[in-house]
Amino acid sequence: MPLEELKRYASQVKKLCDKEKYGDAGQLLNALKEEKITKELLESSKIGHVVNALRKGAQNAGHTEIAAQSKSLIKQWKAQMAQNADNGGTPKVQKTESSSQKREKEKEKLPVANDSSPNLGASIQPTSDPSRNKCRELLQKALMVDKDKYQPQFVSLMAAKIEEAIFTFHGCSSSDTKYRNKIRSRYSNLKDAKNPELRDSVMSGIISAEKLASMKPEEMASKQLQELRKKFTKEAINDHQMAQNEGTKTDMFTCGKCKGKECTYTQLQTRSADEPMTTFVYCMSCGNRWKFC
Ligand SMILES: [Zn+2]
Repeated sequence: MPLEELKRYASQVKKLCDKEKYGDAGQLLNALKEEKITKELLESSKIGHVVNALRKGAQNAGHTEIAAQSKSLIKQWKAQMAQNADNGGTPKVQKTESSSQKREKEKEKLPVANDSSPNLGASIQPTSDPSRNKCRELLQKALMVDKDKYQPQFVSLMAAKIEEAIFTFHGCSSSDTKYRNKIRSRYSNLKDAKNPELRDSVMSGIISAEKLASMKPEEMASKQLQELRKKFTKEAINDHQMAQNEGTKTDMFTCGKCKGKECTYTQLQTRSADEPMTTFVYCMSCGNRWKFC
């Protein structure tokens, strides 16, 4: 199959995943099953990634048949590639059987969907749900509106935390309308060029991911934000007092005030033991403190 055609297939599969129309993927999968594939084709078309994403999405959404079909297609490709490797990389007519040992060997070489969202430490687990990852990307984009203001690593951590908070808030389903609406309203408010206060409050930890997840749209957008900021700042100062100057030196964070990178951080359990730790950061250059959890 020519690469261009395969790429077209890949983008069609991806579209179905994006729209969560997993049930409509049957025909595409059947068509793909007829085709022979090589490692080069697989890698340059990214078809392996999208079919694997389809498999996961369909599985999560209860389309077990599509998930099984995707799985068998991936298996077929693995077998084909194992065989190609035996033949010095030349694509040959597909054999149905290949030793399981060879398949095991090929497993490592086969590109699979990589959902490892960038994260700092182990506080945020990457998700296996492509639509959730997409939401994280959206939020990340919104937080990046003022370019270079915050460290990308930190932004993606915050985006993941916000998404996770909204996800948890709405009964842990990314197909829930409330979840989607909430992501959408956080996204549009966060990226609002006229509302840098919201971004700053979130990035500085004055408004935690959990607080943001439960805020009403009018609280994010209007004067009410000012009132909330006052209240939350007070709470944040109280929290700060718990953090001592002692901390671990790091250049992972950028100070919002002086843009310095020489900071120390301390992690504390500020709430109940089963909730995530709060990280307090102290800028050694200007004394600025902020926190996130
Ligand atoms: Zn500073």
